[in-house]
Amino acid sequence: MDTLTENARSTPVIARPDVLVVGGGAAGLAAAIAAAGDGASTLLIEHHGFLGGTLTAVTLGTICGGYLVNAGEHSEIVGGIYADLVTRLAARGAALPPRRWLDNVSIPYDPVALRHEADRMVAAAGVELLLHTTVVDARVESGRVTAVIIENKNGRGAILPSVVIDASGDGDLAARAGAAFSIGDEGSTQFASAMLRFSGVNVARFQQLSRAERQERLEQAAADGHALPRTSAGLQLHPQHGVIHANVTRIRNAGGESPDLLDAAALTAAEIEGRRQAYLYEDVLRQYMPGFEQARIIDIGCHLGIRETRLIAGDHRLEEAELRAGAQPDDSIACCAWPMESHGAARGTVWDWLPPGVWYGIPYRCLTVRGFANLLVAGRNLSASHAAQSSARVAATCMAMGEAAGVAASLSLQAGSDTRGFAPALLRERLLGRGALLAPRDAESGDRALPG
Ligand SMILES: Cc1cc2nc3c(=O)[nH]c(=O)nc-3n(C[C@H](O)[C@H](O)[C@H](O)COP(=O)(O)OP(=O)(O)OC[C@H]3O[C@@H](n4cnc5c(N)ncnc54)[C@H](O)[C@@H]3O)c2cc1C
Repeated sequence: MDTLTENARSTPVIARPDVLVVGGGAAGLAAAIAAAGDGASTLLIEHHGFLGGTLTAVTLGTICGGYLVNAGEHSEIVGGIYADLVTRLAARGAALPPRRWLDNVSIPYDPVALRHEADRMVAAAGVELLLHTTVVDARVESGRVTAVIIENKNGRGAILPSVVIDASGDGDLAARAGAAFSIGDEGSTQFASAMLRFSGVNVARFQQLSRAERQERLEQAAADGHALPRTSAGLQLHPQHGVIHANVTRIRNAGGESPDLLDAAALTAAEIEGRRQAYLYEDVLRQYMPGFEQARIIDIGCHLGIRETRLIAGDHRLEEAELRAGAQPDDSIACCAWPMESHGAARGTVWDWLPPGVWYGIPYRCLTVRGFANLLVAGRNLSASHAAQSSARVAATCMAMGEAAGVAASLSLQAGSDTRGFAPALLRERLLGRGALLAPRDAESGDRALPG
C-alpha cells in the first residue's frame, strides 16, 4: 500500500486527569463513575453523542448477567453501579421486573431512557465528559501510557493521564499503545447483528406463543423461501406499550463468515446488510407471527451490534475451564453465571450452560494489561478466550468489571499509578463497601426488588 508521511504538528494538551476512561459503554460508564466517586479526577471520552455503548447505540432487549439462576430460583449476582442504574430506570418506568427466558433471567429496559440516566449518573459522580470525541493514538514510554491523542470537531488534542482504562469494546487504545491481543477464535469472531424495535405489536396475542412455537413460525417462513439468517429469534418485551425488541439478524460476508469487524469497508457493508435484514424480518413477522400483523420498525440501532473483536492480553486470560469449574480466584472482582452464548453460522444460537448453580469470578488479572504499568481494560475487550468472553461479555458483567477497574485505577494512584501496586484484597474490600457483589446475594436477604 502507498503511504503518505503526514506533516509534523504540535497538539494542544487539553487535559491532565488522574484517570482517563476510553469509551462510555456499560464498562466505561461504570469505570468513570467509580473512579470519580473514589475521588480521582476522571475524564470520560466517548465517540457517540450519548453514553451506554451497545446498550444504547445498538440497543438490547434486556440487560443480562445480573442474576444466577438455580433450581428455578434467581439471586442477584451483580450490584453496585449496575443496581443503581436499573433502580433508576425502574423508577421512571423504563425497566421491567426480572424476566425469565430459557434458563436466564434478565431486565427488559428502554435504551433511550438509559441514555438520560447515564448522563445524570456521570454528572452526579463528578465525571468530566467529552462526547463526540474519538481516541486515535497513544504515546507509551517505559511501559506507561503517557499521552492519549483524541480527535473531535475542535481538531486533535492530547490528554496526559496518570491511569487509563480502555473500555472501548474493541480495545482501540490498548491496541494503539501496542498491547498484545487476539481476535475471536483464531481470528473468527461471533457474528454481529443489527438490532431493532417494532411498535404496533399486539403483545398479548404474541405472548400466547411459546418460544418454540415462535421459532416454528420462522422455520416455516424459511421453508417457504424467505432467506432468514436466524430463526431462534430473540423477541423481547419492552417497557413501552406495544413495543417488542428484536434480536434477529445475523451478518455474514459472501463466504458465510463473520466479516472483519475492525475494517471500515466491511463495517459499511455490514451496516447496510443489517438494515436489509431488518426489513426482511418486518415483512416475515407481519405475515407469519401472530400479534405482528400491524407491526412496523420504529428504530434500528444507530450502530451495528458487535459482540467481539480484540481481546486484549492481560496478566491472565480467562478460560472456558474456569467458567465450567466455577473458579473463584482470590482476586475475583466480578461474578458471572451467564452461559457461553455462541452466535455462529447456523440459524440457531447455541447456549452452552454452566452446571446448575455454578458461577465464576473474573480475576483482576484479566483487567491489568500485560506489559503496562498504568493501563487497564474492562468490558467485552477483557483478557479472555473466545469461549469465556461469550459469557463474560453481557452488560451487567461488563458494568461490574468497569466498576472494579474504576476503583482499581483510584487505588493505583495511591500506589504511584501502578495498577499492580496494591493488594487485590483491598480492591475487593472497597468494592464490597460500595455495594458491589462478589458472590450471589444471599437468598435470605431476598431480591432488592430492583425494578417492579
Ligand atoms: C447484537 C448484540 C446483542 C446483545 N445482546 C445482549 C443482551 O440482550 N443483553 C446483554 O446484557 N448483553 C448483550 N450483548 C452484549 C453486551 O451488550 C455487550 O457486550 C456490552 O454491553 C459491552 O459493553 P462494553 O462497555 O464493554 O462495550 P461497548 O458497549 O461496545 O462500549 C464501548 C464504547 O466505547 C466507545 N468507543 C469505541 N471506540 C472508541 C474510541 N476509539 N474513542 C472513543 N470512544 C470509543 C463506543 O462508542 C462505545 O460507546 C449483546 C451484544 C450484541 C452486539
